[in-house]
Amino acid sequence: MTDLPEFSNEPILELRRASVRAGLADALAAVDETLPLEVPAMIGGEVTPGSASFESSDPGEPSRVVARAARATEDDARAAVAIASRAAPGWAAIGAEARAQALLGAAEWLRARRLELAALEVRECAKPWPEADGDVCEAIDFLEYYARAAVALEAGRTLLQVPGERNELRYVPRGVVAVISPWNFPLAIPCGMTAAALATGNAVVLKPAEQSPACALRLVQALRAGGVPPEAISLLPGFGEVGAALVHDPGVHTIAFTGSLPVGLEIVRAAAEVAPGQRHLKRVVAELGGKNCVIVASDADLDEAVPAIVSSAFVYAGQKCSAAARVLVDEAIADTLIERVAGAVRVLVVGQASSLGTDVPPVIEEAAAERVNGYAEMAERDGRIVARGGEAADGGLPEAGWFCPPIVAADLAGDSPVLREEVFGPLLTIERVRDVDAALEVLDGLPFALTGGLFARDPAVIRKVRERTPVGNLYVNRGITGAMVGRQPFGGNRLSGTGTKAGGPDYLLHFVEPRAVTENTMRHGLVV
Ligand code: NAD
Repeated sequence: MTDLPEFSNEPILELRRASVRAGLADALAAVDETLPLEVPAMIGGEVTPGSASFESSDPGEPSRVVARAARATEDDARAAVAIASRAAPGWAAIGAEARAQALLGAAEWLRARRLELAALEVRECAKPWPEADGDVCEAIDFLEYYARAAVALEAGRTLLQVPGERNELRYVPRGVVAVISPWNFPLAIPCGMTAAALATGNAVVLKPAEQSPACALRLVQALRAGGVPPEAISLLPGFGEVGAALVHDPGVHTIAFTGSLPVGLEIVRAAAEVAPGQRHLKRVVAELGGKNCVIVASDADLDEAVPAIVSSAFVYAGQKCSAAARVLVDEAIADTLIERVAGAVRVLVVGQASSLGTDVPPVIEEAAAERVNGYAEMAERDGRIVARGGEAADGGLPEAGWFCPPIVAADLAGDSPVLREEVFGPLLTIERVRDVDAALEVLDGLPFALTGGLFARDPAVIRKVRERTPVGNLYVNRGITGAMVGRQPFGGNRLSGTGTKAGGPDYLLHFVEPRAVTENTMRHGLVV
């Protein structure tokens, strides 16, 4: 492991090259040939089609079935946890170095299939190509980063030593980790939580989002191909009830969850219960929703701010937890900013994820489209719509699929739910504020604190916002999405999460227990 090169991020595809673009079309055609994919439950070495099944479909063309997945049951959850409990000690015993080799093998498996995996994300989650490629790269990054970090962590930490005493601080795996993931980064998020748990010597039961079982299947195949024993990584495709069964299972030690606030709160409550015979407290690692604000100061460079705000709000149809949802702009430049953002949004292209010209793809499913449209109606009622995009070319949105127009609303009443609740879709609001201090007061009143942005030139203003922002990830004079492993450790504060920093040096600590050992080395009268 010591001769491994330093970690560096997987380079993204150069989509401007014609040869790369041709590769995308071929990969999509090849993936289409294989659809629908069969996704079994994989419980240890057992691969079972399941007695009931469900389907994932293309959000841009819902009649296209992408995967037919076994619908795992609560009994399956119990069986998977039992197998993981038996496998965990052996997986822990092989040491971080051997486990790292398996994760690096999984990274290699993904790397060899990059285009095919991106194409699958285009179909299953309507991720546009650049986003889909970025997600595959991030999954590879997590494997590479945590593999190295776990080897370093296994060495323990240096403690103060005094004569006659040897002090040691080491980290040991917690046991069985239930990983419960969302669909919006269908490979990278389950991969990050799973890789961290496995690298530190835990066994994992993965319950991916019901919207993206095919992407999760590929992740488990990669890990097993890399050398993770089947007993240490099980896959349970299914719905919330399987996730809940894992959370309640007394054999689970850690729950790594990424998803919405309501589900996260339910998990925190359920995990607090100690079942009869359970001899540990469950730990919940929760990464939840956001309502991310961008502050625009009066001296901001609008040439920089406008495109960054528009891409942060509308890339992947606003379905990133880090997406910009609210702009708080100094009233001195508010009219100009509103006019320029509105102009940029009116010409955004709404279209299929598979088309490289698309700015805004469809949202994930019908219920999401209904939710976003409901908030758009509320925004119209509580304020004014200053731009509606996607209708420029031929006067309408594509017909099939869960398309929602990108919308900018301004001057909403202060008590509008659109300003408080996570919309998770292509809807951006703009509010006028007196100055940056007033914007900071708004931030202070918010329950969420995930990402945030600031556009300003004055170093004193930048310093003030850096010091006073409650958010977990602040971006200054750039877009607020696109955290990179090793460069922007990612995760929110307040109700946005338990303060984890995925892709950063502290993340693995959530999956281990510290053990301090002090030995008296005087050995009075002992024969050794
Ligand atoms: P969700 O909460 O609806 O579902 C997430 C997962 O939880 C799914 O696998 C689902 O089946 C499972 N689940 C549902 N009910 C459950 C229960 N009672 N017990 C256990 N598991 C249960 O979220 P989603 O719609 O898949 O994802 C979107 C949400 O995720 C947004 O709120 C977004 O902000 C958030 N998110 C946060 C981050 C972050 O890093 N903070 C990253 C991505 C997404």
